[in-house]
Amino acid sequence: MQYIAAFDIGTTNAKGILVSRDGGIHGATTRPIHTFYEENNVEQDPEVWWQVVREIAQDWWKQGFLPEEVQVITFSGQMENCIPIDGEGQPTRRAILYSDSRADSEAKLILERFGEEEIRQKTGNHLDGQMTFPKIIWLRENEPDCFSKTKCFLISAKDYVIRQLTGRNVTDPTSAATAGIMNLQNREWFDPWLNSFELTVSCLPNLSAPEEIAGYVLEAAALFTGFKRGTPVLCGIGDAGATTLGAGVTRIGEMYAYLGTTGWVALPTSEVSPLGNGVFHLAHAPKDVLIAIAPLLNCGNVHHWALSVFGDPNLEVKEGFKYLEEIMINNDPTLGSVVFLPYLNGERCPIQDSKARGSFIGLKATTTRGELCAAVLEGVAMAIRQVLELLLDKKEIQRITLIGGGSRSRVWNQIISDVCHCDVIVPMDSEFLPALGAAAAGYICLGWANSYADFSEEVLSLKEGEKYSPNPKNIRAYDQRYQHYLQLYLAVKAFNG
Ligand code: ADP
Repeated sequence: MQYIAAFDIGTTNAKGILVSRDGGIHGATTRPIHTFYEENNVEQDPEVWWQVVREIAQDWWKQGFLPEEVQVITFSGQMENCIPIDGEGQPTRRAILYSDSRADSEAKLILERFGEEEIRQKTGNHLDGQMTFPKIIWLRENEPDCFSKTKCFLISAKDYVIRQLTGRNVTDPTSAATAGIMNLQNREWFDPWLNSFELTVSCLPNLSAPEEIAGYVLEAAALFTGFKRGTPVLCGIGDAGATTLGAGVTRIGEMYAYLGTTGWVALPTSEVSPLGNGVFHLAHAPKDVLIAIAPLLNCGNVHHWALSVFGDPNLEVKEGFKYLEEIMINNDPTLGSVVFLPYLNGERCPIQDSKARGSFIGLKATTTRGELCAAVLEGVAMAIRQVLELLLDKKEIQRITLIGGGSRSRVWNQIISDVCHCDVIVPMDSEFLPALGAAAAGYICLGWANSYADFSEEVLSLKEGEKYSPNPKNIRAYDQRYQHYLQLYLAVKAFNG
């Protein structure tokens, strides 16, 4: 059998799958990754990424898969990191992760020097301290010894593993778009800003398309991992891009929502939306397409909060979520009146307000626990509808794909379909979608698919998902409550604190 080996180096886990030409997923293996937290600092040891890739590969060989069956190796990985390496490819310190905000003042310095509008025009995004560029400046100011040993700053966790496998420093345009220094239009590093900080483009990895061969497995890497020496290794794609591909979203008009602990709604677009609405823009794998991403700080975490408040404390988490489904299943939205604003943790999009808080309105003496719980999930569904309308500029949508842990709730999937007036598709193998998306690059490299859109049509469409359609009976009631929802944030803002 011929396989594409696809790895997804996430924040909490690394996952590996072997994908056959028919889209079959084999040898699915997961390994945990440790994170070091200290105040605002969030770090990981790049050697652990390399080690877990080795462990996953060794697991495959033990299961009886053969190194010569692997036609190509490809990756997805967490992005927006600062991974300093020396000339030999060894880390000069631990990787500073995307969620680390130590470089906020360096970001301010860059913003002052080049101006918010200029940065937005070039990179398509607002610049903040989480991005790679300000972290490089932070490192130079705060750890000069480490800085002087560093030859290259990699961006995505997978870039480091590719370096170990091939000896090449590369990254893909999706990951590079999170660095704060790539021109989003021509997908090249923007030298003048680097030069202005006495840096040159040689301190950044080469930019390659996801399906391009970054290099071939070196002798030492073959001995370490068991992969065959000379196996082609692709540049791969940062996790937001890979997830988008894995969700089958490649063309303008398609979209998906990720219901993780936090979440996002994403869609391909050809242009950057106006400044200040919290939407991020990344380069998508198809060359002329961008991904617009509306981040939601309140998503599965709100579902989890509902579990802690309305659930049965005697039940394990999995059984607890099942119990919530049961208490909501007979809820009739046409009889309800409760509206919930889900901003338990502040929000980033469509408002940017870290002090925003959640609210219930419309409580009656007859309001039940099931109704309150459903109102919580409806509130997140309304947040999704609101960012969808923002992203689509009020154009109608036909269907949305839902992925992430939250899509395990059938009740929630139906609510989202009713609130957003569109079909909802929940794909199979949701857990492995980023790795499957990374495998799309392998399909193109091997000629198994002609384009990312073909991969989506020919390979992903074979994987049947669950489909939910809007219930016409509920649409009017939800539309009315959505109008209340839209007014709620401004109405209660004065009470937040
Ligand atoms: P992340 O990887 O971002 O932490 P996940 O994709 O694992 O997030 O999603 C976590 C969310 O999945 C939870 O907050 C909850 O909404 C949902 N979830 C987890 N387990 C279940 C379950 N058994 N049934 C329904 N929903 C669940």
